Amino acid sequence: MSKLVIVGTVAFDAIETPFGKTDKILGGAATYIGLSASNFNVDSAAVSVVGGDFPQEYLDLLKDRNVDIEGIEIVKDGKTFFWSGKYHNDMNSRDTLTTELNVLEHFNPIVPENYKDADVVMLGNLHPLVQQGVLNQMTKKPKLAILDTMNFWMDIALDDLLSVIKNVDVITINDEEARQLTGEYSLVVAARKIQEMGPKYVVIKKGEHGALLFHDDNVFYAPALPLEEVFDPTGAGDTFAGGFAGYLAKTGDFSFENMKTAVIYGSTLASFCVEKFGTERMQNLTDKEIYKRLDQFKSLTQFDIELT
Ligand code: AMP
Repeated sequence: MSKLVIVGTVAFDAIETPFGKTDKILGGAATYIGLSASNFNVDSAAVSVVGGDFPQEYLDLLKDRNVDIEGIEIVKDGKTFFWSGKYHNDMNSRDTLTTELNVLEHFNPIVPENYKDADVVMLGNLHPLVQQGVLNQMTKKPKLAILDTMNFWMDIALDDLLSVIKNVDVITINDEEARQLTGEYSLVVAARKIQEMGPKYVVIKKGEHGALLFHDDNVFYAPALPLEEVFDPTGAGDTFAGGFAGYLAKTGDFSFENMKTAVIYGSTLASFCVEKFGTERMQNLTDKEIYKRLDQFKSLTQFDIELT
């Protein structure tokens, strides 16, 4: 089993969907990734920063799921990163209403000493210089570096983002972001262009339409599980990334074949995330629930066809 370093925001989110509205609740890319990866019993550590306004119970929640929080700095007189967003009726697109970087503005990440030799690094959504800063601290080159990002960083720090993208093996990105990054509408062309930027593996997340995995000329597609109720898609992308990274860290097999299974785990975990607001559904997820849903996934996607 490999160790897993997780980088990303630990945040306050305020979310509005057609089903309701929340005040500031627990959110952040590293939070969702950590909760999702915790289902694989890997040794994982989150690297992030919060302000003095961040409740201890939220940190305990990660700790209780066995996510090491030594690398989450607390800036006593600072304010936690805050994001708010509003979903459209189709729930597949959203508007960001507020992004307050706060303590993120001057954040210097510190990877805990016993995680500097981790095999897998999941660089979740955060400033690309912070993502690079974490890679620089690793005492040996990780066997697998995965990067997730979003349009916000493309808008304000594109050059830094392109530099860190060169140094990773896998990128997980959503369809609109892949188009923005490459200027290509076709996702096949976009994936090829991203591979030319550095990452040999490209995962394009398409919300309720599943995810695509590209490597050289190989493509694998996994649908999203059709769900009766979607309450809040926030964190689905990060939860996917956490499941993907967690499964790969657990198995230590970084082949294309095994990445296909990792995509299925990622999609399965994301399907839980959207069923309740914020992190609620991910907080007490059990192995039994995951197993049952994987089984559903299998029957959704398996078919026999005789080709003559
Ligand atoms: P997702 O729905 O997977 O894109 O992730 C939503 C999470 O990303 C929320 O919990 C936010 O706190 C966090 N987030 C939003 N904007 C940013 C940003 N610019 N950088 C890092 N994390 C962000």
